[in-house]
Amino acid sequence: METVSPYKEIIEVIKASGGDAFKRCYQCGLCDTVCPWNRVRTFSMRKLVREATFGLTEVEGDEIWLCTTCGKCPQRCPRDVRQIDSGVALRRIATEYGIFPPSVKPVRTVRASLVAEGNPLNQEREKRAHWAQGMDVPEFQEGMEFLYFPGCYLSYDPRLKKVARATVQVLRAAGVEFGILGPKENCCGESIRKTGDEEVFRRLAKENIKTFVDNGVRKILVSSPHCYHTFKNEYPEFMVRFEVIHMSQLLWELVRDGRLKFKKEYPLRVTYHDPCYLGRHNGVFEEPRRVLRSVPGLELVEMADWGIESLCCGGGGGRIWMETPKEERFSLLRLKQAVETGAQVLVTSCPYCMSNFEDGRLSLEEGDIEVREITEVLQEAL
Ligand code: SF4
Repeated sequence: METVSPYKEIIEVIKASGGDAFKRCYQCGLCDTVCPWNRVRTFSMRKLVREATFGLTEVEGDEIWLCTTCGKCPQRCPRDVRQIDSGVALRRIATEYGIFPPSVKPVRTVRASLVAEGNPLNQEREKRAHWAQGMDVPEFQEGMEFLYFPGCYLSYDPRLKKVARATVQVLRAAGVEFGILGPKENCCGESIRKTGDEEVFRRLAKENIKTFVDNGVRKILVSSPHCYHTFKNEYPEFMVRFEVIHMSQLLWELVRDGRLKFKKEYPLRVTYHDPCYLGRHNGVFEEPRRVLRSVPGLELVEMADWGIESLCCGGGGGRIWMETPKEERFSLLRLKQAVETGAQVLVTSCPYCMSNFEDGRLSLEEGDIEVREITEVLQEAL
């Protein structure tokens, strides 16, 4: 294959994306020491930064697609090189040229599904609220306290639909008023943006914003940290601002205020995995832990990398849709860390982490561990 190196364009696109910060890099290599890829194969963000600075990136390789945008290297970088912004800029060029290495090709199908049906899973838009069948969940009406936005995976994935249903039960137990938008809901667009497809992101975001405004939405309750991140930090680029709350945050408020009362014990040892987009990117570390500690009988233990040092599950940055060989999956490392704590249950609060862990536990060589979303734990204890 002919090497494609559109030098000038790369530099211009990086600059336009606010990625000019690449130039500040002084090649200390700290980013490489914290990058989870270097636990499973070699990958150098330092080298990628160096090459991009001189417009020497070869956009046809898989290097520019590896970053999961976990946020570890920007957190450590002494020169404030904004690796995620610049890395996404490189992917934008590859997307524009239609250059996708084999492991990234599934993103093309995802794009088509997002455009046609508003979700990345090739599912029909009209079936978006089928997860709620038999539960009599009302459509959102202006004046309701919360719009509950379950997002794509909780709407369609058979395992994750259980989380959406548990959410309804917990909200009802606490007397929270909420409604859903069903087929009017679109993918939030966070992950397709990270693959460099700005056009599809903007299309999804504008449609969602119009729907929210037309329906008088003010407070959005989300289960996915990716929806949380983009509604809170990226949709304001369109001159709108909604109050966004992640389910783990609301759970803590409900427990703290005595609106959720536990009737059963949950007599298990549990460890909590911080999703990158809830923890490192948005600083929500404490609320999920407070919620878990409040459950009678539950013993909370921490893994080797926790809190701000949490190990990525491998699903961010659009990697959830790309192919990763088994021996390179961070989710398997994380599951091993969880098993090493002696925990019986690995709890998290993100659909990508859930999917990666549920898949990964099937190929664990030693030990076993159950995977639960935080709302499911509470629902079991009510
Ligand atoms: Fe460059 Fe920052 Fe990485 Fe150091 S940590 S090599 S300054 S990008």
